[in-house]
Order: sequence, then C-alpha cells, then structure tokens
Amino acid sequence: MDPKIYQLDEHTLNKKHCDSDALKVVQVLQEKGHIAYLVGGSVRDLLLGVEPKDYDISTSARPEEVKAIFRGQCLLIGRRFRLAHIRYGRKIFEVSTFRAGNVESDELIIRDNEWGTPEQDVMRRDFTINGLYYDPTTETVIDYVGGYPDLQKKYLRTIGQPYLRFKQDPVRMIRLLKFKARFNFEIDADANVALAECSPEILKSSQARIFEELLRMLESGSSEMFIDLMHEHRFLELLTPAFAHFLALPEGEDVLDLLYEVDLRTKDGPIDRALLLSCLTFPFLQKHIQIHFLDRDKIPHMGELLQETQNAISNVFRPFFLIPRKLRMKMVSILITQFRMTPYQKQPARKHLRIPRDPDFPFALEFLDLRSTMEPALKKVWKDWKEAFTNPPHKRAR
Ligand code: ATP
Ligand code: MG
Repeated sequence: MDPKIYQLDEHTLNKKHCDSDALKVVQVLQEKGHIAYLVGGSVRDLLLGVEPKDYDISTSARPEEVKAIFRGQCLLIGRRFRLAHIRYGRKIFEVSTFRAGNVESDELIIRDNEWGTPEQDVMRRDFTINGLYYDPTTETVIDYVGGYPDLQKKYLRTIGQPYLRFKQDPVRMIRLLKFKARFNFEIDADANVALAECSPEILKSSQARIFEELLRMLESGSSEMFIDLMHEHRFLELLTPAFAHFLALPEGEDVLDLLYEVDLRTKDGPIDRALLLSCLTFPFLQKHIQIHFLDRDKIPHMGELLQETQNAISNVFRPFFLIPRKLRMKMVSILITQFRMTPYQKQPARKHLRIPRDPDFPFALEFLDLRSTMEPALKKVWKDWKEAFTNPPHKRAR
C-alpha cells in the first residue's frame, strides 16, 4: 500500500524544533544508502508542537550495520527487541531496524526480531498517532495508517484490531490510558470495548515494563489523570487491589490531591521517583495508623511506625509490583521522616530541631511541603524544618 505523504506545506512539523543530533543520525544512515526516518513518539510530539522526550529512528540498516557505521558511539542492546543505542554526549538515540510482526495473531509476543519494510514496521506499532515517519531530508511526513488525520482529530485508535493488539501485548492498554491522560484525546469506540474485555490480560505482562510506564506517568505532569483512568478502567483493581480499594474511600482523594500538586510542580523540573511513589503510599499509611492506633487511643512509637510504613509500601503495590530495594529504602526514609517532623505525640518545645543524618532528608522535606498544600497548618512546620536544615545548629542528631 502506498503511504499518504504530507509535503512541507501540508503538515505542522518544523524541522528547526528537531534535535540536531537526531537529524544527524538519520542523515548519516541515509548517506550510507539506508532508508532512515524519525518515527513514533518524537514525530507525534513535534507535530503537536510539544518537545519530544526522546527520539526514535527507524532504518533499513541491520543492527550490525548500524554498529559498523557508528562504532564506539553505538551499543547494541536487547534480546526481545534488538536495537542500537547511539550516544551523542548525554543524549541517547534509539535506532531500530524495520521489523515485520504478525499483526493478526492473538498470541503474546515473545520475540520481535524479524526484519521487514517501513510499512510492516508501522503496522506492528501500537496507535495510529505513533505510526508516523518523518523524513528530514525531504521534510515530509509519511503516513501508512491514517495517523495524521487522527492526530488532528485528537483521536486514539489502535493500528489493526484493538482486541488482537491488546492480547498480543497487554502493555498497550496502559499506553492507551497514558496517551489519553497526557493529551486528553478521545478513545476510539472499538478500542474502548476491547479495553474492557482484555483488561485482565494485563496480569500476563512484565511487571518491570508496567512499573516503568507507571513511573514515567508519575513524572509526566498528567499523573492525577493517569491514576484516575487506571482506576476507572479497573487496572488498579487487577494489579494493586488494596490500593484500588483505598482510592475509592473518601481518604483516597488525598492521593489525587497530592498528584495534582505533583503535576503542577513537574513543570519546574523533575521530581524524585521515591517521592512520587510516596504520594501513592502516604495517605494509605495514615489511614492504617488511624485505624490501628489512633482510633484505639494508642500512639504508635517509632518502631511501630516503621513497621506500618513497610507494610503500607508492600500493600499499596501488591501483588503485581516489586519495588527495587534502593527505591523502597528511599521511600521508607521519606515516609518515616514525616512522623519525625509531624509527630503524633505532642513534643516538648525544643530550642533546635534535630535534622536526621539522612541523605534523603531533603526529599522528606520536599514531601512535607507537598503535604502542606493540602494541610496549610503544615506550612509553618515545613518552614521551621527547612530553616533548621539550611542553617543547621552546631550539633546534629546521631
Ligand atoms: P513517550 O513520549 O512516553 O516516550 P512514545 O510513544 O515515544 O511515548 P516509547 O516507549 O518511547 O513511547 O516508544 C516509541 C514508539 O515505539 C512508540 O511511539 C510506538 O510507535 C512504538 N511502541 C512502543 N511501545 C509499543 C508497544 N507496546 N507496541 C507497539 N508499538 C510500541
Ligand atoms: Mg518515546
């Protein structure tokens, strides 16, 4: 099938907004006689006038050929999906060889390394808006899947039959919600039906991939909407039932309120991942302490709070997600420090606040600041701790 080709005056992609090194990679590949285009998220974002987070390049060159061209700048990675990473300073560009996939099958994809044509390569991609090529040399957008009109209509449609595409790779369902949350596009009616039918398939996909999508969405500036959609479409119920149950309670609103604030702050720079995950955990933890201690007129001591914190982290993300050890330790540190800064027990007035010797303390402080947007009384507490941290007294707590 011939693609629809949008000439320079028929599309909104401005080459000046492209990363110059990404353009260089495409140019070098083309000069060596290969087909090469920008593809996927970067083309979509540039057409929308958004700065892409990363650039993917698709080429007819095989991974070994890419390696031979870029030598030391190039690292071949991946087994399920073999591709080349080209490094320019701190930037990495993903270069993948055009692939053919069995788009008709409803089997879970295990390997995906059969080489193909540019057309076959877009056919195995997830959504029409992610299936566009940009050729910087001719400054044309190449569209095999009707992606450009969908982008203009703000419409999310799978490439191929949604039911099959979700069965083949259930992570696509989460990606659908991710794009819905990020761009607020309308979801195609068939895809909506397939989403409801296929949602339990999500349990077959790799927890690492979904965890990465979750983290990326918490960082995206659309985290509140994403968690809300994950809840509405029952993914949280499947992946993290205790958290889903909590979200439906009145206190569950606190999670969305924290994420609302996170989304505002993300515009000023990235927020630490442990802090983002703490937003999902803290209201749950508070509720547990309320029920198991405060409602029974018991004040938990630090050992009990630590135990409750560990339990809350496990329960919020159970049974699907396994939080990597380092990230988990940082979350514990952020959460437990909240109880030092805002203790349940009335503290005798102190001359100096004792700053814990904890490298993660600044994150705990930042989290307290986030909480204070919901509980204005905490603003003063935050100010005092911030002041003590920036101008420490001579002696520090051991
Ligand atoms: P982001 O802006 O979050 O990076 P993206 O669409 O660029 O979004 P990537 O994970 O960077 O997402 O993937 C790059 C491209 O690879 C996508 O645009 C899409 O064409 C294709 N792709 C990614 N994941 C899948 C998948 N699960 N199934 C099919 N195609 C996929
Ligand atoms: Mg991308």
